[in-house]
Amino acid sequence: MNDDADTATRGVGVVVVAAGSGSRLGATAPKAFVPLAGRPILGHALDTVVRLPGLRSLVVVVPAELADGEASEWEGIGLPDDARVVTGGPERAESVAAGLAHVDEECDVVLVHDAARCLTPLAVFERVVEAVRAGTAGAAGAVPGMPVVDTVKTVDAQGVITGTPERAALRAVQTPQGFRRDVLVEAYRSGQVATDDAALVERMGHKVLVVEGDQLAFKVTLPADLDHAERLLATAGGRS
Ligand code: C5P
Repeated sequence: MNDDADTATRGVGVVVVAAGSGSRLGATAPKAFVPLAGRPILGHALDTVVRLPGLRSLVVVVPAELADGEASEWEGIGLPDDARVVTGGPERAESVAAGLAHVDEECDVVLVHDAARCLTPLAVFERVVEAVRAGTAGAAGAVPGMPVVDTVKTVDAQGVITGTPERAALRAVQTPQGFRRDVLVEAYRSGQVATDDAALVERMGHKVLVVEGDQLAFKVTLPADLDHAERLLATAGGRS
């Protein structure tokens, strides 16, 4: 891994979750293994992760049938030799927990990143690590977020509006989500499930800070997202 982890107890571990299905993309392959500009989505995501200063431990979580790291689907991904490949679970939270168990214990900070957010710029990773290390505002974690442009409503089971949160206070959050390793391990030990990692850490009473996200950190979910990513990669400066 990258050799600028400065002491034996400071290094960054990254868990890249790539065990989701490709069903919403209309693909038979797992989403992270669907080609984007001629290479699997996961390869694009890893291109950035491997450049992260202080990277000590990289764990990639994939479906069981690809966990040997040798199937032809791995072609063009550029998996580093020292990365660990582990089997995920049916829910994202289970995949994260599986990956977390294999992060080198010497990492003081762990980031969890969706392979599907494959064009996330390196600067976003760096902002997250910096904020976790700084413990800004007493936070044990940091996540990238973007202001919300739509007005958001809460609704009941019948769709009747029950509230209108003040838009200025809302953020749409992305990955990588970063935390002190001890805190994240404890959060996942609870066995609870949430749609992001921060929610589990928040539930434990820890503060989590939102740092500036990036439009390029969008999640490839639908075929239109794949087209969008293809177009971005085709234009110079599509990634940073
Ligand atoms: O399904 P969704 O788009 O929310 O998935 C976000 C990320 O979590 C993707 O990178 C996907 O591969 C990963 N995931 C996973 N295991 C699951 C479900 C999703 O690793 N069971």
